[in-house]
Amino acid sequence: MPVKKKLMQLTGVNKQSPYVKNHFYLTNMKSSIYMSVIVIVLEIWMIERMIRTIFEKDLGSKLESLIESYFSNYFMLLSAGTLMLLFALRALFNFRKTRWLAIAVILLSLSVVVFEIRMITQFGGSSKSTADLINYLILFSASVVMICFSVVLMLDRKEKKWHSLCVMYVFSFCCINFGIIMSVHSFAKGDQILTFLTMELFVICLLIWRPWIGFLVLTVSYGVFYYRISGIIDISTVERIDGIIDLNTARIGLGDGVKINGFTMWLSTLLFCIANYSRTMSQGLKDENLEQVNTYLSKISIFDELTGIHNMVHFRTESEKMLSYVTTDKENSVFLFMDIENFKSYNEKYGFTEGNELLKKTAKIIDETFTGSLVSRFSDDHFVVYTKLDGCKEKISEISVKIHNMQREVHLELKCGAYKPAENDTDASLACDRARFACNTIKKHYHNHFRFYDKKLEEKFRLKQYIVNNIDTAISNDYIKVFYQPIVSTKDGSICGLEALARWNDPKYGLLPPGMFIDTLEEYRQIHKLDQTIIEIVCRDYRQAADEGKPFVPASINFSRLDFELFNVVEFLGSMTEKYRVPKNFIDVEITESALTDQQDFLQKSVDNLRSAGYKVWLDDFGSGYSSLNVLKDYQFDVLKIDMKFLSGFGSNDKAAPILKNIVELTRQLDLVSLTEGVETEQQFEFLRSIGCNRAQGYLFSKPCPKEELYEKVTEGKLKISEEYENK
Ligand code: C2E
Ligand code: MG
Ligand code: MG
Repeated sequence: MPVKKKLMQLTGVNKQSPYVKNHFYLTNMKSSIYMSVIVIVLEIWMIERMIRTIFEKDLGSKLESLIESYFSNYFMLLSAGTLMLLFALRALFNFRKTRWLAIAVILLSLSVVVFEIRMITQFGGSSKSTADLINYLILFSASVVMICFSVVLMLDRKEKKWHSLCVMYVFSFCCINFGIIMSVHSFAKGDQILTFLTMELFVICLLIWRPWIGFLVLTVSYGVFYYRISGIIDISTVERIDGIIDLNTARIGLGDGVKINGFTMWLSTLLFCIANYSRTMSQGLKDENLEQVNTYLSKISIFDELTGIHNMVHFRTESEKMLSYVTTDKENSVFLFMDIENFKSYNEKYGFTEGNELLKKTAKIIDETFTGSLVSRFSDDHFVVYTKLDGCKEKISEISVKIHNMQREVHLELKCGAYKPAENDTDASLACDRARFACNTIKKHYHNHFRFYDKKLEEKFRLKQYIVNNIDTAISNDYIKVFYQPIVSTKDGSICGLEALARWNDPKYGLLPPGMFIDTLEEYRQIHKLDQTIIEIVCRDYRQAADEGKPFVPASINFSRLDFELFNVVEFLGSMTEKYRVPKNFIDVEITESALTDQQDFLQKSVDNLRSAGYKVWLDDFGSGYSSLNVLKDYQFDVLKIDMKFLSGFGSNDKAAPILKNIVELTRQLDLVSLTEGVETEQQFEFLRSIGCNRAQGYLFSKPCPKEELYEKVTEGKLKISEEYENK
């Protein structure tokens, strides 16, 4: 650190942050309490001693001189100490019962003022020195100032820092003045100058916030004291009033020893000043850092970093508090869950930065529209609000219009689910879940942007909760089954593959199709449990068939995008195929097109890894999303499974046939096997064959069913297994 900067820091000339300033202020107020209490006790003791002296001895005409030399100083210091104590107590503890003490200070100071006016007016005719006059003036002015601040204290309700600091200066000044007067007397008597030294130390303890001010005060006071005692040259002519010395007559010289001691004392008090300041400063900085970290932590714990609005932690605690208040009008309150439909496509098209901007703007719109309500970002493009029921639909429409106006080439639409809490509801998370559930039911329903959670949804919601809570039991109790649906070759209609489709055979709900549990398991990141079970069942079925000498064809298994995040698919498949001794070409991997549109590198790698490990990778539901062609460009597949929506329009929509034809043509050019799903009629099958589609799957051949049923159909001759696999 440069010398100049270091010097500035040591002497306290540098700039201090508001926090450090306040830290010094409070430290000063704390030491003021100690110092003022000591001063008050001392002065009361001294006054009591003096009063006793007056009564015990007949001092007659010298009484006035006694009062002049001592009483005024004691009174002044007592009132300064009391005033300081009152200000410090107010600053630190907000102590406000100060009226009577302030009046006492006013009376004390007033008596000093009256006495000093008398002394000043009589000064011309007396034999007093200029030093005496200065002392009268000092006592007079200090007392007037104290009266003023006592009045301020009585009138002023609110603490003002500069008031307390002024009082501290006055108090310090009174202490030093007292120290000088007393010690000059003691010195003249040949006694120690302890009062002066004590008062200097008092003041250093008080004036810690700027060493240079301390230097100044100390140096001036040492100078004055030195000047005063160096004037005393002869103690033999001292006139004494019961041990009290008249300084006009007292004279004593200053030896070298006294000079050196004085200098050393001055120097050490200065160093003490710096040490005290540095210690308090570093403590202040440490506290400031800690405070900053705490503020930051408490901020990020309740605010969403991206949008700046509150996060779910805050939402949950606050809404639960509100739910628990008896005063909350639950009847007229509602939980809203909002979702921006197609946000993912927007993100994909314009990138994350633009996506984030959109989220920030949306958060701002929602926050402003629901000012005064509890608004938070739930996650991704989801927001939650706890607000009044009245007018909420109108506000949602307002937001919906604004979001719609922000759209570019990607269509954006606000979807909002609402849940009215019941009288006994206390769980905010559950309320949000219900609102979210209502919101999800209107997704992909164009122009329908608001839905209340009602009785109809309640049953569905219960099932969803049941799924999440029971997936582990379902797996361990073998409720999860695999139904197989044949995939046939268009050449001869023989089975060349089986798609493994999950079913949940539940004792309470019966046979559940995947549509009733896949999305929920994905939402709660539990899908890997199901898919691992399916993989194991398929491998086990293969082994059983092989052991029983029955034919088996390659089975394709559906994977969720999340599977690739939640477990090592290649490793798991490897361990299962090894455990059940399944050749790798008997397991195909189906990944749905929408899973791949997120442009995540790790998915590309996973697809490559699967292929290099020997598995065929199929692109499922081709044509169902927005970026079908991009997916084809970015990933390498073996089979292209054309979405059934192309066939569903077949016959009624003239464009369906040419589109299908072109897709099949494209597949051929890319050297992929083409497969069309959803084949329900002979006519459709014929058409597929005519355009050169390699494989077909659909109800025409068989609905998905347990493997036993399939074997029966084969035995009955309703289905035929491809020659390639028949004898395996
Ligand atoms: P998907 O992979 O596209 O499966 C084809 C779906 O179309 C199956 O529905 C099947 O029953 C149905 N389907 C087949 N032929 C026809 C037809 O001719 N007409 C009509 N209308 N439908 C037909 P399912 O079994 O309900 O499965 C639905 C979706 O659930 C599957 O679509 C797949 O994406 C997912 N899924 C199924 N099993 C699993 C699984 O084990 N894991 C994962 N992650 N997803 C699975
Ligand atoms: Mg599939
Ligand atoms: Mg499909």
